[in-house]
Amino acid sequence: MINLSPPRFFQRFFKNIIWNFPDEKEGVFLTFDDGPTQGVTPWVLDQLARYNAKATFFCLAKNVEMNPDIFERVVREGHAIGNHSYSHIKGWRTDTTQYIQDVIYANSFLHTNLYRPPYGRITARQFRLITYQYKIVLWDVLSMDYSRRVSPKKVTKFVIDNVKLGSIVVFHDSLKAERNLRYALPRVLDAITATGMVCKPIVIPRKNIRES
Ligand SMILES: [Zn+2]
Repeated sequence: MINLSPPRFFQRFFKNIIWNFPDEKEGVFLTFDDGPTQGVTPWVLDQLARYNAKATFFCLAKNVEMNPDIFERVVREGHAIGNHSYSHIKGWRTDTTQYIQDVIYANSFLHTNLYRPPYGRITARQFRLITYQYKIVLWDVLSMDYSRRVSPKKVTKFVIDNVKLGSIVVFHDSLKAERNLRYALPRVLDAITATGMVCKPIVIPRKNIRES
């Protein structure tokens, strides 16, 4: 279960966390966590291509290692890449040095300055170290696609009802989320396109990492 409300210690670090882009004039930001996954990520890429939509993939580097061709395709098709660790580590149960090593190792596959902590949770110390190198990207619209207790229709309606200019939406290109994702994604892309909004990748200039 992702911890939706930010832990208190996050609050002093808000300036280093992106929840959405409030000044955005035309775009929304779809993100996909936990891939690349055979049978799922290629399908996601096909859907995005049909709408000329770009997204950001917060990859698990162990999955990149297993599926290098799919990862190549994600990059080639103009999507942005984010670091989601090598092994989907639980920050609050992992020694800080080990945590940082996992993230650094992941970046030898991913080469990005965006980081999304697995489960949306991280300790204050890990957070401080990570933000020397990365902008932490969370979300304002959590699709719940990974939950077997949430129906495909509910996932779809929740995202369509809540997405607005500058939103960051979380989906998962994982086997766990596949059933909900296959129903929701084309409908969400339809709805976004119908409003005239554009799906864009998240790009943060490196110089801005410790600012704003
Ligand atoms: Zn994840």
